[in-house]
Amino acid sequence: MRILTMTRISDLETRRAIEQYRIRAMMTAQRAGERAKLKIGPEHVAWVKEEMCIGCDQCTIVCDDDAIDLYDVKMRSPIINVDINKKAKILREPCTGCGLCVLSCPTDAIVMIDR
Ligand code: SF4
Ligand code: SF4
Repeated sequence: MRILTMTRISDLETRRAIEQYRIRAMMTAQRAGERAKLKIGPEHVAWVKEEMCIGCDQCTIVCDDDAIDLYDVKMRSPIINVDINKKAKILREPCTGCGLCVLSCPTDAIVMIDR
């Protein structure tokens, strides 16, 4: 007989940490050239181009500084009726300008700007 158990919060945190490590390793390997060209450091801050954000949550996974929030918006597509869509927003104060979120974004919705 199969016994069902609930997933514990600690299991989810472990999974998230493993996923964060996996994404970082992948980005380091694949996007090192792009990172070298980014404006990074405390004089810079990330910025999300809202129209390009698909709310996939990759950027919040890689941000160590809790500098990205997801908020709900109505989806504007005339052919798909979806009440809620997520968009990312950078919190300027905690953002350290590391640039990792730029590399993680699959739609290139994040850019680094002068602070
Ligand atoms: S630049 Fe770094 S600290 Fe700022 S939002 Fe992106 S990942 Fe977070
Ligand atoms: S990774 Fe890019 S597309 Fe995904 S939520 Fe962040 S800004 Fe939006």
